[in-house]
Amino acid sequence: MAATRVVVDIPGERQYDVRIGEDILKDLGAKLAPVLEVQPPSRILVISDSNVAPLYLETCKQGLATLGCPVSDITVPAGEEAKCVEVIGEVWSAMAALGLARDSVVVALGGGVVGDLAGFAGATYMRGVRVVQVPTTLLSMVDSSVGGKTGINLDAGKNLVGTFLQPSYVCASTDVLATLDEREWACGCAEIAKSALIDSDDFFFWLVENAPLLAERQPDVVREAIARSVVFKAGVVAQDKTESRGVRECLNYGHTLGHAIETLAGYGTYSHGAAVAEGMRFAARLGQTLAGTPLELVEAQDALLDQLGLSVLDWKAPAEDILNAMKRDKKARQGAVRFVLPADVGAWELVSVDDDTILEHLRLYFG
Ligand code: NAD
Ligand code: MG
Repeated sequence: MAATRVVVDIPGERQYDVRIGEDILKDLGAKLAPVLEVQPPSRILVISDSNVAPLYLETCKQGLATLGCPVSDITVPAGEEAKCVEVIGEVWSAMAALGLARDSVVVALGGGVVGDLAGFAGATYMRGVRVVQVPTTLLSMVDSSVGGKTGINLDAGKNLVGTFLQPSYVCASTDVLATLDEREWACGCAEIAKSALIDSDDFFFWLVENAPLLAERQPDVVREAIARSVVFKAGVVAQDKTESRGVRECLNYGHTLGHAIETLAGYGTYSHGAAVAEGMRFAARLGQTLAGTPLELVEAQDALLDQLGLSVLDWKAPAEDILNAMKRDKKARQGAVRFVLPADVGAWELVSVDDDTILEHLRLYFG
């Protein structure tokens, strides 16, 4: 089956390719050779996690063997907890012990956790070595592997320490998604739905039409959904590389309430995507009041999320608690809670919403 190539072209950065297709991990070295040709690596380090390594590390290392340089690997514990100061310290030490040099390359083989951690390790070791992303979850293929954000969590909050470093190459080998459970699958689907709605009629209505096939993981539809999401994200990042111009805010659609749900329900109770999907349902309803969001959009989005296995959460909390959680979020500015609202498909607005309006809508929504 054919692979799809998306070129990410961000001003001031070297262009890079995202390659999406079935069984392409085994060709990684062949595809990387021209990318790394300017400075052939003296060593490659693959960083993976304890779930992914037993499944795909061997294939990845075999794929890299054609490059003809030593390939080492480290495995970190699976899960969000690995994005911490202690683990990054161990990774840095391992990099030094293995003799990684400035010309070395770090390969991040895993989901968003490994991508963020290995990306940060690569961005900081010797002031930065090249990083290749090999995302293995649907979420990391459509979202975290593209755009250059890397980082770790502190006790004080998620993603508080990090850098921007665009990868040299991204390899999304869709066959690895076969071992992903339903929860992680739906999690990635939420970010696809978010991207489609923010992007355009073309993407949104394509997704509406193909949602049942995406839910069944039909290979062509999966590949196209990833490619469209990557094109969308790359376009946004190209306009706002360091999240300083406001454009990148649109990626937070559904995330204002989503983050509050994750916090209040206890991190990990619901997947990030399930919480974001709930946030999208809420934001569209808030949009009906504040941004002229048409009822048809609210209904089409509800139906789409249902079809993607992102049903309404069996969760509620007092409106005041939800509002307070939103205000504690690092993205809130001067106390005002800001929402990305869909005025229409492909037309979003960033709106600061006063407390009373939020409370009223939360009570309406959660009953
Ligand atoms: P994850 O990396 O924790 O992966 C989810 C689970 O799936 C883990 O247990 C992992 O071991 C397992 N797994 C991974 N690939 C698998 C496969 N092919 N088969 C079976 N199991 C597999 O989580 P995620 O959802 O991929 O990423 C979430 C992280 O991404 C968060 O830390 C978030 O902050 C970050 N993120 C970063 C960005 C960015 O722009 N850098 C964007 C969105 C999210
Ligand atoms: Mg997200």
